[in-house]
Amino acid sequence: SILNLQVFDMHLFSDVLMDSTTATAELGWTIYPSLGWEEVSGYDEKMNTIRTYQVCNVFNANQNNWVRTKYIQRRGAQRIHVEMKFSVRDCSSIPNVTGSCKETFNLYYFESDKDIATKVYPAWMENPWIKVDTIAADESFSQVDLGGRVMKINTEVRSFGPVSHKGFYLAFQDYGACMSLIAVKVFYRKCPRVIQNGAIFEETLSGAESTSLVSARGSCVPNGEEVDVPIKLYCNGDGEWLVPIGRCVCKAGYESVDNGTVCRGDAAIICGSVPSAPQRVISSVNETSLRLEWDLPKESGGREDVVYNVICKSCGSGRGACTRCGDNVQFVPRQLGLTHPWVHISDLLAHTQYTFEIQAVNGVSDQSPFSPQFTAVNITTNQAAPSAVSIMHQVSRTVDSITLSWSQPDQPNGVILDYELQYYEKNTAESNSSLLRSQTNTAVIRGLKPGIIYVFQVRARTVAGFGRLSGKMYFQTMTEVNAALVNLCCIHCSSCFFFQVSPGMKIYIDPFTYEDPNEAVREFAKEIDITCVKIEQVIGAGEFGEVCSGNLRLPGKREILVAIKTLKSGYTEKQRRDFLSEASIMGQFDHPNIIHLEGVVTKSTPVMIITEFMENGSLDSFLRQNDGQFTAIQLVGMLRGIAAGMKYLCDMNYVHRDLAARNILVNSNLVCKVSDFGLSRFLEDDTSDPTYTSALGGKIPIRWTAPEAIQYRKFTSSSDVWSYGIVMWEVMSYGERPYWDMSNQDVINAIEQDYRLPPPMDCPNALHQLMLDCWQKDRNNRPKFNQIVNTLDKMIRNPGSLKATTPLSSGIHLPLLDRSTPDFSSFSTVDEWLDAIKMSQYKENFANEDLTTFEAVSQMTMEYVFAIFHTAQHIHIDHIHY
Ligand code: AMP
Repeated sequence: SILNLQVFDMHLFSDVLMDSTTATAELGWTIYPSLGWEEVSGYDEKMNTIRTYQVCNVFNANQNNWVRTKYIQRRGAQRIHVEMKFSVRDCSSIPNVTGSCKETFNLYYFESDKDIATKVYPAWMENPWIKVDTIAADESFSQVDLGGRVMKINTEVRSFGPVSHKGFYLAFQDYGACMSLIAVKVFYRKCPRVIQNGAIFEETLSGAESTSLVSARGSCVPNGEEVDVPIKLYCNGDGEWLVPIGRCVCKAGYESVDNGTVCRGDAAIICGSVPSAPQRVISSVNETSLRLEWDLPKESGGREDVVYNVICKSCGSGRGACTRCGDNVQFVPRQLGLTHPWVHISDLLAHTQYTFEIQAVNGVSDQSPFSPQFTAVNITTNQAAPSAVSIMHQVSRTVDSITLSWSQPDQPNGVILDYELQYYEKNTAESNSSLLRSQTNTAVIRGLKPGIIYVFQVRARTVAGFGRLSGKMYFQTMTEVNAALVNLCCIHCSSCFFFQVSPGMKIYIDPFTYEDPNEAVREFAKEIDITCVKIEQVIGAGEFGEVCSGNLRLPGKREILVAIKTLKSGYTEKQRRDFLSEASIMGQFDHPNIIHLEGVVTKSTPVMIITEFMENGSLDSFLRQNDGQFTAIQLVGMLRGIAAGMKYLCDMNYVHRDLAARNILVNSNLVCKVSDFGLSRFLEDDTSDPTYTSALGGKIPIRWTAPEAIQYRKFTSSSDVWSYGIVMWEVMSYGERPYWDMSNQDVINAIEQDYRLPPPMDCPNALHQLMLDCWQKDRNNRPKFNQIVNTLDKMIRNPGSLKATTPLSSGIHLPLLDRSTPDFSSFSTVDEWLDAIKMSQYKENFANEDLTTFEAVSQMTMEYVFAIFHTAQHIHIDHIHY
């Protein structure tokens, strides 16, 4: 009864009983003795991981290694087929191998009604095992790289039968080969359901022998009848129907169409009739999902195109009428037109009654005046835990506490009883985490350490238990220094001059505190459909790609002009994140002097950031193009706008770090708005832009940056105030480059020596004085942004205050201004002193002005306008090099 079969396509007319390649974990077959076969992970031809068994004891004689599969159910099959993929090494290819090396192995089976095998039973020998065959590698092989070596893979199929017990085991015996059993598939053959000779033949399993023919009775298609003999077909061992006997013909008044598969009545236009309802629906509920399976309808309507629709109705908690389920219920593979008699349904509400109607329809159903026949099943979903909380915010913080709030889970699946918050210090083990319960979706977490970053996760609880934990979010307590400043309640509390942090006050959230920065984008930036955006022309080059102008028409709104920043293709995930971080920062701001974010396009490429359009572009180039064109009041008006924007940022706890005229945009009404909230240029070390000089831990725009920020990265709103003073100078000089062509190092040295930029030409004294205040060495002595706004407001109200300009400003350009009385005691000449303060290049100017003695130099200082005269070529620089 054992026969070699050819390799064939098993997917046709066969059912698989066991497939080792689908094992996701260990196969866990039983091995005897322990030093024989070994389970090893390998790869198949498609580089999928598979579990294999290998043995290679070719140097030891008398090998007898067995490996036994797990118990395999027979499921009605009478003849079992086994397909084996394996590789065997040629003994001749193994050096120094003895005569005991083999190139074959044996296949056995053992039948049993129960899974009763143990380590010692059935005994590891032929009888009790029944030998199917000795298997040798044949010529038909493919090659595969198995753990580094190229191997030839053989495929062999053997079959055995009749089998009659409930199930069986297979065993593979190695007696000295170097081989690898790569895959084992066990299956049986069957003949599929067919319509032949006017009759329907149901699926039939092949017989016990490969030569067996299993006879099957056919039943005539609707409106057909048998002529003379009973109609029959035979199913052979390969799953093929053979030898048709008898036939059905259509009854009187019907004609045979569609190759004899349908008997069509004279009146009928369409072939066949509607199917009957599906039978015997089985449901299995798992929390809020379920699987439905059903048997085929009794009547297919004489057609083979029966498909199923599933209608979902939710019936609340039992009372009242049922309503159709919403769109959020998921059906796999789909809800309508199912070709197989099952469906998986998920995302149902917890604790709810549903009715599912399974309709059977075919090509005739559409034409039928009646609704499709269906079978209904009622189910009640179970309790399910709530889904995860998706977002958490910091509401406020102190040195030892943080107040957080979070959103409700999308699917609470019941009444939320409370939330559990877990938190721990970022630099400690998660196992040290503390727990806090809250009845609402906010909590004050107390007893924290100052200036420490904590990791927070929250989960909701209902009667069904806890939901999944949210993603990790990071929040930091205030440092003692921060807090001291806040609590002083005086003008030194912070640069924006607020007296206390009131709870609920809006504070900027750094998008990088989100574990997933995309979450921050979703939170703070509106997603815009690309079809609402019309790109017109390129207007500039941004750090990540082109900047364009265009139009935005949001549904129900009028079209507006916009600027569109794009992310060039080929970006990395990090670049995308950094690019979009600007939007998640900008999206948190809402002020007339802060560039307004319209939204982002992230669901299509290129990724875009869309902002309001600023007709006059960036302030530095705008001023250079309009040199000398504005009144002092107009210039002060621009400065006032910038200061108001900065005050707002300061109130939001946001430190800009790169306030400069190039980062201010100007619209057609000369309104200035602060922009450029990207963070990346500080972080990257590879930008070639010399405006940003590498410093320890990041890049810094030296000329605009306060000394404490350059020296020890103390970036605060007070360092922003310093930068603001530089912007004032840029504005009043119509876009002159701060410190002209001095090197960065000279700038740092000069500032350290208390030199400051002199008033630009025609600059009102009051404005220069404000600049000097912004450039106070001690950052606590600098004005706060609200004070700057007030001072500028006063000037605008009283234009007379802008009349007085520095006497020297008419004609002589002052390169740098000393704010202190220099200590000349260790120098013998002015030149020596200039060398020491790295101002040697001004020796000539000093000499020309007869400033050759310390007395003369000090004299000038006393007059407050000590100057080091600059060469004339620096007076008018049109082209600025960054
Ligand atoms: P950025 O990457 O923000 O420095 O932008 C590069 C350049 O694009 C700027 O210098 C401006 O000239 C131009 N630009 C950026 N945003 C806008 C806007 N909202 N309106 C007009 N021009 C803009």
